[in-house]
Amino acid sequence: MQTQLLINGELVAGEGEKQPVYNPATGEVLVEIAEASAAQVDAAVMAADRAFVTWGQTTPKARSEALLKLADAIEAQAETFARLESQNCGKPLHCVTGDEIPAVADVFRFFAGAARCLNGLAAGEYLEGHTSMIRRDPVGVVASIAPWNYPLMMAAWKLAPALAAGNCVVIKPSEITPLTALALGELAKEIFPAGVINVLFGRGKTVGDPLTGHEKVRMVSLTGSIATGEHIIGHTAASIKRTHMELGGKAPVIVFDDADLDAVVEGVRTFGFYNAGQDCTAACRIYAQKGIYSALVEKLGAAVSSLKMGSPEDESTELGPLSSRAHLERVSQAVEEAKALAHIKVVTGGNRGEGGGYYYQPTLLAGAKQDDAIVQREVFGPVVSMTEFEDEEQVLAWANASQYGLASSVWTQDVGRAHRMSARLQYGCTWVNTHFMLVSEMPHGGMKLSGYGKDMSVYGLEDYTVVRHIMIKH
Ligand code: NAD
Repeated sequence: MQTQLLINGELVAGEGEKQPVYNPATGEVLVEIAEASAAQVDAAVMAADRAFVTWGQTTPKARSEALLKLADAIEAQAETFARLESQNCGKPLHCVTGDEIPAVADVFRFFAGAARCLNGLAAGEYLEGHTSMIRRDPVGVVASIAPWNYPLMMAAWKLAPALAAGNCVVIKPSEITPLTALALGELAKEIFPAGVINVLFGRGKTVGDPLTGHEKVRMVSLTGSIATGEHIIGHTAASIKRTHMELGGKAPVIVFDDADLDAVVEGVRTFGFYNAGQDCTAACRIYAQKGIYSALVEKLGAAVSSLKMGSPEDESTELGPLSSRAHLERVSQAVEEAKALAHIKVVTGGNRGEGGGYYYQPTLLAGAKQDDAIVQREVFGPVVSMTEFEDEEQVLAWANASQYGLASSVWTQDVGRAHRMSARLQYGCTWVNTHFMLVSEMPHGGMKLSGYGKDMSVYGLEDYTVVRHIMIKH
């Protein structure tokens, strides 16, 4: 197992405190890894800063070729990456192999292509006797901070656009799930010049703070919680760094009376519980119109209770454990608080799973009211709430009365209503008659406290560039 950091093109052991990394399916320690020391954080940033002098000047073609090689190398070791991710996160192995690894390779390939298409707006004579042109240039050293729910995919979302645009990166995966990012470092070492990619390991306080506060870091990209986002924005304010924030979510799923209920049931069964619901776009907050509310509670209850929770190794497992003991406690606490309310009905689930791992049953809670914490706060687990609504105006107001603004979905057969709702929902994405579908060509990102900045798509690439004006006097 690769447990070394990548600094300036060398794999080196961390010189900081050792941290245990767990297998959430059993609760056992998989390995202990030493964090980066403050001197190693500095060395990684300085290496990236030196590498930027040449990497920032490479041709798009050269950057594109390196990204394509990385995609090929990941695919060549797909089995190893999938096993590591499954062991470290508790994800069903077949999901990592079938869904995540292909998506990771595709993101690197998309940005390999996009790197060659990035251009500034055309030139013109806006002042007599002068020609202006616009360039999009790299920002410099980017510090990337990733979460624990899709460690390798989040590393891909952060590394690919930043590198494609000509930046150099120091990435810190979550201390809970570092294994695939460290393995990726080993591949990157063979493909990229020293210092272009650096991979650190450690917690937010010990490694994250010195990294994001470093004077040579010009941009910080975070996917994580709102609390960490607020902290990083404050911490980087004094040095006026660019920030790119992908924070939490609480996706409303709005089901009208005319919706295809079987499609809704299938959609929520899949997209509310994929990755054990640990997904910022999870279909977790259902608003169902009064004509179909009871029928949907019943159908969905049966569907959710049929989800198979079990060992990540088992081909038939649909739901693995949660990522950590601390997170199991948080999910459990959120459901207990909801259960204590007289109007909440536990349709299915509502308890921890059995065995030594961090399992929580797929849970459906009906009767939730708009102001309940279960409707307002992100649980980030296999827990879906259901709330009854009267009409379009009411549900639009409720869906938008949320601190979050990442993803939403509308389920209806009425095209006009689908357009009206999509236009007025304050979310970075609205799906109609589906949920959770992501493609590398389309942007992913939020509004309000869900953050700003886009992942994937050409908008993601542009986020890692600076718009510059060049003016030439004739
Ligand atoms: P988290 O904020 O606890 O941790 C995210 C990362 O931030 C980790 O690497 C952590 O070590 C690091 N961090 C913590 N304190 C730091 C500090 N002071 N300085 C620098 N880095 C620091 O979040 P999490 O629990 O790992 O992930 C779950 C959260 O991420 C949820 O809220 C979820 O919605 C969000 N998320 C959002 C998206 C999105 O695309 N919007 C995607 C996945 C997850």
